[in-house]
Amino acid sequence: MNCSSCGAEVTVGAVYCSACGRRVGAPSPHPDRVEALADEASRAARDMVRAAAKFSRLAIDKAEQAARDPPGTAKRAVDRAVAELKNAKAEIDKALKDLE
Ligand SMILES: [Zn+2]
Repeated sequence: MNCSSCGAEVTVGAVYCSACGRRVGAPSPHPDRVEALADEASRAARDMVRAAAKFSRLAIDKAEQAARDPPGTAKRAVDRAVAELKNAKAEIDKALKDLE
């Protein structure tokens, strides 16, 4: 067998290449394991986006409550915050749709 780094002939069963010192024949992850990890990662992504969607709804509710009757400039600031929150929520909803 040959070293995967430098190509030198290495003894069968050797852990390190005697020519370059790199680890030879490091086991590559099993495809099933890789798939399981990928599934786990996409589940985590979905959970994350769902949580973000929930919190963006809460944030919009709070901002809208605050926007009900504040004085002039504060009202504009709150309106802007509500608009930004709605944009963020739209992006989160889109991400959630793409994931499902
Ligand atoms: Zn080598």
